[in-house]
Amino acid sequence: MNAPATSVSVAPARAEDLVAWELIRMLVGFDTTSRDSNLALIHWVRDWLAGHGVASTLTFDDERRKANLFATLPAHDGNAGAGGIVLSGHTDVVPVDGQSWDTDPFTATPVGDKVHGRGVTDMKSFSATGLAFVPELLRRGLKQPIHFALSYDEEIGCIGVHRLLAEIVARGVAPTGCIVGEPTGMQVVVAHKGKKAWRCRVRGFEAHSSLTPMGVNAVQIACDIVAFVTQKARAFRDRGGFDDAYDVPFTTVHTGVIRGGTAVNIIPRDCHFDFEIRHLPFDDPDAFFADVRAYAESLLPEMHKVAADTWIEFDQLSTLPGFDTGSESAIVALGHHCNGAHDHGKVSFGTEASLFHNAGVPTIICGPGHIAQAHQPNEWITVEQLARCEAFMRRLADRVCLPG
Ligand SMILES: [Zn+2]
Repeated sequence: MNAPATSVSVAPARAEDLVAWELIRMLVGFDTTSRDSNLALIHWVRDWLAGHGVASTLTFDDERRKANLFATLPAHDGNAGAGGIVLSGHTDVVPVDGQSWDTDPFTATPVGDKVHGRGVTDMKSFSATGLAFVPELLRRGLKQPIHFALSYDEEIGCIGVHRLLAEIVARGVAPTGCIVGEPTGMQVVVAHKGKKAWRCRVRGFEAHSSLTPMGVNAVQIACDIVAFVTQKARAFRDRGGFDDAYDVPFTTVHTGVIRGGTAVNIIPRDCHFDFEIRHLPFDDPDAFFADVRAYAESLLPEMHKVAADTWIEFDQLSTLPGFDTGSESAIVALGHHCNGAHDHGKVSFGTEASLFHNAGVPTIICGPGHIAQAHQPNEWITVEQLARCEAFMRRLADRVCLPG
C-alpha cells in the first residue's frame, strides 16, 4: 500500500468519546465467527434501525442460520431506489480458536490508544461508524439515498453478498457507488487482485515400498505438479506483468496444503494438495490453470502403464474476481473528498468490492485499521483510525445531506 491518508485532522483521545463507541461495543459483543449464526447481530441491527424508523430487508442462507441485512435511508423526496451510496461491511469474523488473547475477544476493550477485540479492524468498526450517523442523516434529510449492506460469510469466500446483490437488483435499487469498509488505513483503494483456488487429487497405486516399479507413487506425482506450480509462481515474479500500485506488484501463486501417504514403507495411493492464484487484472487465472492441467495430463501415460485405475483430478475450491475502478470514477472522487487525501492504492487481498463492481456499482474500499492487524490474536485498531473513519462519515454526511 501507499502511504495512508494524512490530511484529516481530528481525534478523540479516548475511544469512549467516539460517536460510534456504543455501536462498536455492541457489534463486537456478538460472536459472529463465520461457522456460527450471525442472526443475533443482524436482528439487533434490524431492531435498532427500526427504532429510528428504518426498515431492513433480510436475505437468509439455505438453513436460515445466517442473514444479510439491507436497509435504505430514502432521500427527502422519498426516492429509495435511484442512485445513492452503499456502505458495505461483512458481519462475520474469523475464529479465535487456538489464539492467545489478553482481553475477551468479544468485548471491545480500550487499551492505551487502541481498542482490542475480534472484528474491531476486520470489520465491525466501519459498519458501526456508518450506523452511528443514521440519526443525523435522518434529521438533516438526504439529497440521495444511503444504503447499508451487512453481509454474512465473507471470511469463507464472499458467499452471502451474492444473495444481497440479487436482492438489490430485484428491488430495482441502482446505487451510484459503494464503499466497502475493509481495513485500508482509511486510504481509498480502487482495485484488488482476483483469486482462484483449486484442489488437485492424485490417485496412485499402492504397493510395498521395496517394489517401487509396481506402484504409482501419488505423493511424488503430486510433488511434480506442485513443483510445476512453483515454476509458474517464479515466472510471474520474475517476468511479470507488474503493477507497482499493488503491495505485491505481480501475480502470486502458492500451494497451501498437501496431504498424502500413510507410511514410509508403503507406496502411497492418495495425495491431494490445494493451490491458489492471486492475479492482476491482465493475468488470466484460467490460462494458468490450463497449463497446470496440461502438465498433469502429461504425467498420466506413465501412471497408466503401471496401473490403469490411476488418475489426477482437479476441483475448484473458490473464485473471486478482481476489480479495478478507474481512478476517474465519481466514487473515487467522493472517497478523496471524504478522507481529505488525493492518493489511492491497490491491494492484494480479496473483498466483496469486486462483486459490487461486477454488479455494476462503482466501488472503492476504504475502512479504518490495517489488514496486518486482521485475523490476529489481540486484533486491535487505534482510536486515531476510528476517529479518521468518523471524520470520513461526517464529510460524507455533509456531501449527501440537504443544506442546513
Ligand atoms: Zn474483512
